Order: sequence, then structure tokens, then C-alpha cells
Amino acid sequence: MSLLSVEEARARILSQFQPVPTESIPLTESGNRILSADIVAADHLPLFDNSSMDGFALRAADSLNAAPASRVTLRVVADIPAGLAPTISLAPGEAARIMTGAQLPQGADAVVPVEDTDFSNRDAGSAAPSEVQISKPIKTGENVRPRGMDVHAGDVVLHKGQRINPQTAGILAMLGYLNVEVYKRPRVALFSSGDELLEVNAPLESGKIRDSNSYMLAALIESTNAEVLRLGVAKDTHDSVKKLIEQAVGQNVDLIISSAGVSVGAFDFVKEVIESNGALDFWRVNMRPGKPLAFGNYKSTPFIGLPGNPVSAFVGFEVFVRATIGRLSGIPDGSRQMVRVRCEAEILSDGRESYLRAVIHEQDGVQVAKLTGHQGSGNLLSLVQANALLIIPAGVKCVPAGQEVNAWLL
Ligand code: AMP
Ligand code: MG
Repeated sequence: MSLLSVEEARARILSQFQPVPTESIPLTESGNRILSADIVAADHLPLFDNSSMDGFALRAADSLNAAPASRVTLRVVADIPAGLAPTISLAPGEAARIMTGAQLPQGADAVVPVEDTDFSNRDAGSAAPSEVQISKPIKTGENVRPRGMDVHAGDVVLHKGQRINPQTAGILAMLGYLNVEVYKRPRVALFSSGDELLEVNAPLESGKIRDSNSYMLAALIESTNAEVLRLGVAKDTHDSVKKLIEQAVGQNVDLIISSAGVSVGAFDFVKEVIESNGALDFWRVNMRPGKPLAFGNYKSTPFIGLPGNPVSAFVGFEVFVRATIGRLSGIPDGSRQMVRVRCEAEILSDGRESYLRAVIHEQDGVQVAKLTGHQGSGNLLSLVQANALLIIPAGVKCVPAGQEVNAWLL
């Protein structure tokens, strides 16, 4: 078993994955999905010059000499609500009442807000006045949202690999996309293994523990927006493990994830089963927490075997599986957001790349990190109390208090 850096191991895994196929889905169901093509605008946004205020459209030049002591009076020749294309063209000395979002009439190049006129009737349904007075000059373009201000037809507005969020759904609608081309959701099968595992509602028995990894890992997979197929718990026997893996393969999943049963214990059958019908790489990765990492394929379905200890399973997911599901999903970089934080106290490490549970809080404008609870790989509470994973680089044995390190925000 060779010693791999985290980066090498991750790169080797990622090189084996391609994005899943694409599909066209309704925009209403596209939240959190990943665009599989650039979105090129067919139209300008805004579509036409329009008013950003309720007020009066005018020629800015007409307002040049307006002042409180010498108001300018304009003839109101039209009333333009939103949604109605104006048919008139403003001549000098003329104005048109206009509503927010309504199209500017020909000849107009600015809008004076109703608040800056003598027209005080703001009631719904009120008729436009025949004249309006303004008492200060308006600049050309003031309160006008010009056609193409945001987007020009032909612009690439959204990029392949971008996740659709509420804002992007809004702009897709502006651009006329009732349906959108996205990557399918990757399908990920998940199972736990171990004779000691009980379903969470089963009566406790001595020597047994509840299967918590299934729940934590299913939630992690769902947080990537992949579909999770929970296969339950395999016993520590060849046949039991094989049955679940065959089930996963039968369901056409893109990836199988397991926890436990992949170390060197006498009852660790997962390796053997994968090897019997595929290939398994077993790497020693220079990381902490870090058992060997199992990566291979059963028949042609990729498999990643995570450690059994809950914190190790979580960290293994974050370090290797999140980016892998990201690659399957069509995302350029699927990892967590990384930030720089200052260590509150000295941190000792053993030279392996270490992922430590910490809580980050702001102190005098600086993000300061403090380790939580017991940092053992079975101590899940320290992870529950954490909002970040500190990343202590390989080769570092001591991080002095006050030094900055990278951290993933959880
Ligand atoms: P193993 O990799 O099978 O040697 O398991 C390592 C440790 O993780 C042992 O303490 C197991 O009891 C624990 N463990 C394994 N699977 C789970 C699970 N699904 N939920 C919680 N703890 C687990
Ligand atoms: Mg076990």
C-alpha cells in the first residue's frame, strides 16, 4: 500500500468520473439542478426602455430651467400604464403620465417622479392631469431603465455547471425558458456494514450500537442534491454484503457508498466482495482521521468504502465523496466553501493532513476558530458542535496560536 497525499487520492478518484446524462425539465422543478449548457440570451433585458418610477415621462431638455421659483409646466398628452405599449411620440413641452415598468414613449428620455411634481393625487384609479408642473431639472436618462441595461441578446448569462438557485430561476424565466436542460441527478446507493448495528428503533442489546452512519451519510448525499438509495445494513458476511451490492447494481446507480467493513479486521468482507466481481484499490492516504480508503468498482459500478467511525465517515465524505458527486452532477468544483480562519489556541498535529472539528466565531472583525470537544474519530458530538473543518496541511506538527489556516464551512 503506497502513501498518497489527499490531493493525489482525490485526483485519482475524480479522473474516473464523468457527468451523468442530461435531461430537459420544467423550470418549476429546476431548483438546485445543474445547467448542462450555457444560457445565451435571445433577448435584451430589459426588453425595452422603461420607467423605474411612477411619474411623468418627458424630454429632459424641457426641465433645464425648472426651479421652485420658476416651475415648468408641461402638457400631459398620454397616460401609460405598465403593459401598454405607448402609441404617441412626445413633442417638446409635452409629458406623459407613466407607471413603473411601463414602456417609455418615443421622444421621452427621462422620468420625473410623481413626488417631484405638483400632481398630488396618488389614489388608485385617479385620472391623469391635463398639465403637470416640475420644479427642478431632470437629467437625461434619469429614472429610465434602458433596453439591454442588464443583458444584451447574445450574452452568455448563465454557465454550464452552474447550480440553479431562486435568482437564476428568475432570470431563466425573464429569458423565456419554460423548460431547462440540466444534468440528471446522480443516483447514489448507500449501505452500512457491521454485525453490531441496530436499526434506530430496535431495542438496545448489549454490545450493539445504532446505525447512525446511514442517516448521516444519506443526509450528506442529499445535501449534494443527488438521489440516495438506502440499502440498509449488511451483516459481516460475504453473502450479506454481496446481496446489497448486487441490489445497488440492479438499480443502475452511478456510485455505491458504504461505511465500515473495509479495514483489516477479521470480519471485514466488503473488500473481498468488491474484488470478487471487480477491482478494489486500497490506499493509505496521508490524512487524519484516516483509515485506508477503499476505491474500486463492482462490475462497472464505482464504489467508495468509507471508514466506520462516524467522524471518519463524515470527513471521508467531505474529502472524497462530495467532489465525486459534484463531478457526476456536472459541477466544476463540488467541494465546500473554503475560508481562512485564525486559530485561537495552538494546535498540535502529527504531520498528516488533518481535518479538525472547530467552531468559528467573529472576534474584533476576525474569524477565529476554536476546536470542539473530543477530537477522536468516534466522537460525533464534537462534529455536531462544529461549524467548520479546519484543514491542517501535511507536514505541519504545530500551528501556533494566532496563525491562519484554511477551513471548510459546514
Ligand atoms: P469498522 O470499520 O467496521 O472496523 O468500524 C469502525 C468503527 O465504526 C466501529 O467502532 C464500529 O462500531 C463503528 N461503526 C461502524 N459502522 C457504523 C455505523 N453505521 N454507525 C455508527 N458506527 C459505526
Ligand atoms: Mg465492522
